[in-house]
Amino acid sequence: MAFDFLTADVEQQKQRTRYRARQCVAEQNGRHVKINDENYLNFSSNDYLGLNHHPEINLALLEGAQRFGTCASGSSLITGYSYAHQALENDICDWLNKANCLLFASGFSANNALMQALGHKSCQLYLDKLSHASLIDGALSSDAKVKRFLHNDMNQLQKFLTQCQQHSVDQVNATNNVIVSEGVFSMDGDQADVANLAKISQQHQALLYLDDAHSIGVIGESGEGSSSVADVDIVMATFGKSIATSGAFVACDNGLAEYLINFSRHYIYSTAISPALAWATKKSISIIQNEHWRREKIAELSQLLASKLTGNIPLLKNASSIHAIVIGDETATLNVCQKLRNKGIWLTAIRPPTVPNNSSRLRVTITASHEVKDINYLANCINEVIE
Ligand SMILES: *Cc1c(COP(=O)(O)O)cnc(C)c1O
Repeated sequence: MAFDFLTADVEQQKQRTRYRARQCVAEQNGRHVKINDENYLNFSSNDYLGLNHHPEINLALLEGAQRFGTCASGSSLITGYSYAHQALENDICDWLNKANCLLFASGFSANNALMQALGHKSCQLYLDKLSHASLIDGALSSDAKVKRFLHNDMNQLQKFLTQCQQHSVDQVNATNNVIVSEGVFSMDGDQADVANLAKISQQHQALLYLDDAHSIGVIGESGEGSSSVADVDIVMATFGKSIATSGAFVACDNGLAEYLINFSRHYIYSTAISPALAWATKKSISIIQNEHWRREKIAELSQLLASKLTGNIPLLKNASSIHAIVIGDETATLNVCQKLRNKGIWLTAIRPPTVPNNSSRLRVTITASHEVKDINYLANCINEVIE
């Protein structure tokens, strides 16, 4: 029969315990989530700074809707680019100390767009092995050669770049190299060695592209993310995580911005983001810059969790909001997750193909909305459930 694969492939997922279904969330904030009429402590939220439902951001959304409308009514190159977008872009440029900034409908779209734009046939893209799906898809659909280096393995990256340099000595045109990584990695919460990446990219005249989806707001004195660590050529970040709205930005120099405006199909053929939301995003960023206590609280509560878990719990420690407890087996991980759910704790089991085989894990996210007693309860429950 035609389209047999639709049901056959889903059936196969069920047999491999990889079937996925959605949960309809009735209410949530960075601390609680209500699902199927049950209340849970929420440890699976990307609202790291606890800014969702913030009254000032809500008010800015309303004001933005009244001044600029809920809809951009066009793509940025037609009549969709408004004062709300421009003001937001300017604030981001100041925040990250970049000359230019463009807004995209989502982080997925921005990564795709940039990998395709930088993936000219004269280019070689070097991606960290654990790069987000949107980076990999974008790179593979580009005209560039793509190489993936082992996660955070700076020696292998150096080796690849040196080989490429020797290769291009014989050619008339040098290869354009782009190094692609993430400020904070989504599954383990560990950081790239950004200072070293910047040094390597300078040595080889490569461009450094960082996906700061999980660093923006959380890392850096005023939440500016990876730009706080070193000079990064191109920074992409989503508004959908710590910034608590929706959409994404790419901050870069004027030359690349102009190229994108002229050639990026994702930018040209997509409606500009809602100007009301752009206005709300601008407010959110100003709160992020000023309210340092939100970042400090994440750090304090993360330390508390690490100190309360018993020694045998395999927690990956790091400076972000994301803390992984690697269990390994998929079924065992799902069982632990279910036991925690019975105790009123909602966190996510991350399984292949999102992570490599036999590295299924619990992903705990700590937000600025959590309280000390929440972390104590979480640690006690995990200690009890994992022996
Ligand atoms: C969430 C995420 C994205 C996608 O951003 P959206 O705005 O949700 O599309 C891109 N990269 C990484 C690393 C992410 O975690």
